[in-house]
Amino acid sequence: MASPATRTMNEKKNIALVAHDNKKPDLLEWADYNRGRLSTHELYATGTTGRLLQDKIGFDINRLQSGPLGGDQQLGARIAEGTIDILIFFWDPLEPMPHDPDVKALLRIAAVWNVPIACTRATADFLFSSPLMQDEYERPVEDLSDYQDRDVDTVQQASSDGSSK
Ligand code: PGA
Repeated sequence: MASPATRTMNEKKNIALVAHDNKKPDLLEWADYNRGRLSTHELYATGTTGRLLQDKIGFDINRLQSGPLGGDQQLGARIAEGTIDILIFFWDPLEPMPHDPDVKALLRIAAVWNVPIACTRATADFLFSSPLMQDEYERPVEDLSDYQDRDVDTVQQASSDGSSK
């Protein structure tokens, strides 16, 4: 059996923080409580979440676009590139969002790359109390080489067979 692929998470991790509006107070309180631990890592956030974390807690944070304007997709792209290690995403289960597809896409791509995801405060507590937060960690990822290296002629053939139906 081929050895599993991994992505290295260094001691200093790249952590993405996102909260929907009704969950922002929760995230702020959680981040304030964990400010010491969080400040040892590199932080990223969607626009409004990031501004709040900067203004209210004083975090030095890499701010992206606001979620509905593409911030969730920017985080998804960084996960695919391997520059985000952990996703803290307090999404709102009681409100429909205009950018629901982006939310789903972000959670999907994080699962593809086996990124630890905390969608609730309790999960974030458990995640942050793990000793692995301070250690280097080889995160197993699925071996996708068969998919990445698949023969383009076969793909093209399959798609033209499908379109001729
Ligand atoms: P925001 O985006 O931090 O800009 O509010 C969060 C989201 O809705 O994904």
